[in-house]
Amino acid sequence: MPDDFDILSSVKESTTEIAKCPTCGAIMIYSPRKRALLCEYCGVTKDIDLSKIVPEQPFELLLNSSSLKWGNETHTFSCNNCGAKTIFGKGEVSKKCPFCGTTNVVESNEIPGLKPNGLVPFAIEKSDASENIKAWAKKKFFAPKAFKQTAEPEELSPIYTPSFSFDADTYSTYRGRLGEYYYETVRTSDGKTKEVRKTRYFSISGSIENEFDDILIRASSRISQKYLSDLGDFNSNNSNEYANEFLYGYSAETSERDGLECFNDADSIINASIKRSILSKYDYDVVDYLNVDTEYTNRTFKYLLLPIYIGHCNYKQKLYNVFVNGYNGRVTGKTPISIIKVAIVTLIGLAIFALLLVLFYYYD
Ligand SMILES: [Zn+2]
Ligand SMILES: [Zn+2]
Repeated sequence: MPDDFDILSSVKESTTEIAKCPTCGAIMIYSPRKRALLCEYCGVTKDIDLSKIVPEQPFELLLNSSSLKWGNETHTFSCNNCGAKTIFGKGEVSKKCPFCGTTNVVESNEIPGLKPNGLVPFAIEKSDASENIKAWAKKKFFAPKAFKQTAEPEELSPIYTPSFSFDADTYSTYRGRLGEYYYETVRTSDGKTKEVRKTRYFSISGSIENEFDDILIRASSRISQKYLSDLGDFNSNNSNEYANEFLYGYSAETSERDGLECFNDADSIINASIKRSILSKYDYDVVDYLNVDTEYTNRTFKYLLLPIYIGHCNYKQKLYNVFVNGYNGRVTGKTPISIIKVAIVTLIGLAIFALLLVLFYYYD
């Protein structure tokens, strides 16, 4: 069977590692609370070197990195605890053995292409992440009351999610035309007067320097860039150097997206931010045009694994994804919307608008 042969020839057996308790031999996992490896069986802990802060990497490394991707071929591993053979999913570099529950972590020198060089360890326990989701749901104004009261996260799992972080200094020159409104009193044909809005345009040009630090761009399709940004700070400037120990007990994935593709996303964020910083120097009402030329210096990147809890809430047979920042506990995600609440708020808004119109004409 040629098909079977193709599948077999592309299967690679990976070398994985697990951690065993030096006292009782049970499996050890990384504990966010202890910030160390913990034997859940006898309570013994084993320190991890937390002092190694990951350095920034020169941008050229990203340019020269091969596009070899983990998961373009099928990988398997034999569990280091029970020996059962399991297939890694696309991108997975750390996975729980379905037979004995032990997390097996791929030896990092077996990951082809660009390897993650840093990681932010989980600092929030799963139980706290779950509580944070419930508190977050209660504060969602437009969510139905029943959802706010009963929201319960399901299948909440901690996953190290790949992300690129970019630093850059920029020097930009710009040229543009902005406009300011002014009003003129004109006489109408029936002899009355009225105010007419006009625009006075003026040219701007100059140069501006900006610094950008740790712009985080998602490298996984599991989370949108909006949700990643919503999760806020990961303290990524102090991320640890990548080490297998942090992954014990957790799923981890490598980048699905190309590093340069991720930089293009960062570039859009940087350009929008430069435009905002230029415009903030002027008083204006409208932008006619603004052309900006930007040169980069000191471009660096880090390829990080970020700690994120991913799960969902179930409401009326529909699933709503939720995400928790595993470093600071912040929550984001989708909630159902109460049509009635939206309708009431819209009606109140319209009523206020109508009232203002009446007042405006009454006093005019
Ligand atoms: Zn033990
Ligand atoms: Zn096993």
